[in-house]
Amino acid sequence: MVAQVGVKWLGLPEGVAGEPLSRAEAAAVWRRSLADSGRDGPSRLAALSGLLALGDRPGRWWFQRDWTGTDRPLHETIRVSYSKLSTLENCALQYVLSEELGLEGQAGYYAWVGHLVHSIIEECENGRIERSEAALVQAAEDRWSPKEFPSFAVSEAFRRLVTGQMLPAWFAAYGETKALAGEIGFQFEFDGATVTGKIDRVSRAGKEGCQITDYKTGKSRSAPPSEENLQLGIYYLAITRAPELADLGPVRQVELAFLREKNLEGGLKRVTLGMNSQVRREFGEKMAARLSGLIGQIRDLSRTESYRPSAQAECRYCDFKPLCPLWPEGRELFQAAAKVST
Ligand code: SF4
Repeated sequence: MVAQVGVKWLGLPEGVAGEPLSRAEAAAVWRRSLADSGRDGPSRLAALSGLLALGDRPGRWWFQRDWTGTDRPLHETIRVSYSKLSTLENCALQYVLSEELGLEGQAGYYAWVGHLVHSIIEECENGRIERSEAALVQAAEDRWSPKEFPSFAVSEAFRRLVTGQMLPAWFAAYGETKALAGEIGFQFEFDGATVTGKIDRVSRAGKEGCQITDYKTGKSRSAPPSEENLQLGIYYLAITRAPELADLGPVRQVELAFLREKNLEGGLKRVTLGMNSQVRREFGEKMAARLSGLIGQIRDLSRTESYRPSAQAECRYCDFKPLCPLWPEGRELFQAAAKVST
């Protein structure tokens, strides 16, 4: 075809193209310019501001640093949160690389959308955004940042999801009643560890009880049901143990609210677990045993420093496949030579 139209092939251009075509290419080109001591100062500084605008963090270029010594334990004390523990439940190798060593890549656009929606709801609850659907949607429009997304099309799809589904669905379900507390932080001691976190919403249930809600901006198919949900379990334990939450009263219901999904009647999809005194006791005991097991596992891992990948792990969103022996890209490049029998 090329020959038919009489176009000649050209050789590859020398060196790197001056104008990068993708985000990754831009980061690579500017990193190279920044490191080139032969370049003039202004162009190296321009490369640095380009990298910072892309969200690249030079402080995390670990390859420039020496190995850290292992002459003392990783921690003097244990401090855990739901996100740490859920990574540990998935895989010990992923846990040490992301939660202990902080090697996880930058959070993606799903996390950015989740943070935006949570912060708009929080500001609405504490009165900084007017309590109306139009004001919520306007706040999302004003704060929308297409550069967080890999393409304009993806940005638009999510903008419509947030402004056309998530925020209107939240307002229809919770807009009328102000929360007792939103994004409320807690800290309590458990089995020698400190457990910390933030509850998305606590609302009144009955005269003296309360309901715990966790907002989800992802899909429900990847979330465990309420009665198996460790996040709700930790929130439940927090209400029964954290001194700062003692006034909220007994928990009458825990729920997951999936903001991007509809139920059969077209309303917000909510997965709830109602609680009488027996369910409270069973749920509390089950979650306390699970939390205790995980804290014990952290202690064992810190002592043995043996962090193994898990064959049952959900690996889809794991950044560490190139470091993981269970994946082809993580296997040794050069296998040790087979022993030759003498
Ligand atoms: S790829 Fe899977 S098994 Fe390997 S570290 Fe990540 S989560 Fe664990």
